[in-house]
Amino acid sequence: MQDSEISALQERYKRVIENIDRAARHSGRAPGSVQLVVASKTQSAKAIEELIKLGHRVFGENRVQEAYEKWPSLKAQYPDVRLHLIGPLQTNKAREAVALFDVIETIDREKLVVALAKEQARQQRKLSYFIEVNVGAEEQKAGASAAEVPELLRVCGQDGLAVQGLMCIPPAGEQASPYFALLAKIARTHGLPDLSMGMTADYPLAIELGATYVRVGTAIFGGRPAKG
Ligand SMILES: *Cc1c(COP(=O)(O)O)cnc(C)c1O
Repeated sequence: MQDSEISALQERYKRVIENIDRAARHSGRAPGSVQLVVASKTQSAKAIEELIKLGHRVFGENRVQEAYEKWPSLKAQYPDVRLHLIGPLQTNKAREAVALFDVIETIDREKLVVALAKEQARQQRKLSYFIEVNVGAEEQKAGASAAEVPELLRVCGQDGLAVQGLMCIPPAGEQASPYFALLAKIARTHGLPDLSMGMTADYPLAIELGATYVRVGTAIFGGRPAKG
């Protein structure tokens, strides 16, 4: 990365932090009440490290395999980094996911809970979890239905998975606020403290509606490199 690219990245990062603080204050909340999860899928270890050097510590990756290409060495170097899995997880990747991630945001079925519980016990490692809710009831999308949340919470409790909150990705191209409000309502019903919602297009809105975690990529890194 050239110096000019690094300073542009730092500027965009700082602007996002300012926007988060402003949205929190506007809605009468403390600036520190919202955690930025930097969505670093497809980004280089070098770009990620520039943000770590600025003091940022919380990152989200979508794919277990891609995370393994970047994060073992970064985590060895910066042990206080917290890595979130924000993409769907297959049960056959549960072992690797438990070994590398600190938070898994995409619990959406009982079979996955069972696989993760087994790995937590085997590896003597406890992670923190979010249940992903398919708030738009979209056929093709990951996430549990709103109606499935109580039973999933029960199974997580029984199997020793600590659920801190709910996560959602609202339908593309629609006004997100009703979906954010719905997620907040479900969380309230179950006494769950955390809401992971809001991306580049709508994170200030998500904060107004109660987000405690926002997952932002594009606003920080600029466009994502083409897949290759
Ligand atoms: C990529 C991604 C984000 C960040 O999206 P941007 O629009 O780039 O900010 C957030 N959440 C999930 C699950 C993602 O895959």
